[in-house]
Amino acid sequence: MLLVDSHSHLQDARFDGDRGAVLARAAAAGVEAIAVCGEDLASSEAAVALAARTDRPRLFATAGFHPHEAARATDGALAAIGVLARAGNVAAIGEIGLDFHRERAPRAAQRRALDAQLELAARLGLPVSVHSRDAEAELEPHLARFATRSPLASRGRPHGVLHAFGGTLEQALRYVGLGFLVSLACSAGYRANDEARRVAAGLPLDALLVETDSPALPPRDRRGERNEPAHVRDAVAVVAEARGECAETVAHATAANALRLFGAAVEAPA
Ligand SMILES: [Zn+2]
Repeated sequence: MLLVDSHSHLQDARFDGDRGAVLARAAAAGVEAIAVCGEDLASSEAAVALAARTDRPRLFATAGFHPHEAARATDGALAAIGVLARAGNVAAIGEIGLDFHRERAPRAAQRRALDAQLELAARLGLPVSVHSRDAEAELEPHLARFATRSPLASRGRPHGVLHAFGGTLEQALRYVGLGFLVSLACSAGYRANDEARRVAAGLPLDALLVETDSPALPPRDRRGERNEPAHVRDAVAVVAEARGECAETVAHATAANALRLFGAAVEAPA
């Protein structure tokens, strides 16, 4: 089974003791590629460094300031993200977005960091990895503006991905209409998450990705444990069951979608 984990934080300190074993288990489970996502400058640099020294699975680094870290996204820090991305080993700008659930950074700072990073992605022709929590409606005009400026659609590539999507099917369909993909995590299998399974069933297969968001969001039967990319199989199983399709079909399609999103993006941006 061909699998791609479209969102993880493998550079997290919780993997420092056994990262090699975690990567080996992912490869043994059929995971071909994993996105390693930055949340601030240091974790973005760590993602790029980890991707550079890892052959299998293939790692796609993303660079950006998470909405929780938006208050620290100074002009200087954002310029450093730009330098990192221009060096050519960054597959997407992210994770960026809005989080009005925990609201760890003021909303104004979140909007400012989001727009600055969308601008950077448009300029570099890179897709974006987007975090959204209780902010799906407010996010839409920001991403719609980006979609008109990003050169990716004219190259037949998605503008980005809404990661671990927690909104409604109707909201998901609007993002797909704008040219974004929607990613579901193992959390789509949590008992209370009926809407995520509606999203899984209701979107076209070519708009879906799967992810682990490791070390967060472990599968339902492993709650409380550290999550890891090998468990992306569980997200595939949840999506396949919701759609009434076989896991193999969902695995191959979501892997191809992820490679379309990240794969060609590692060529040096213009
Ligand atoms: Zn994340």
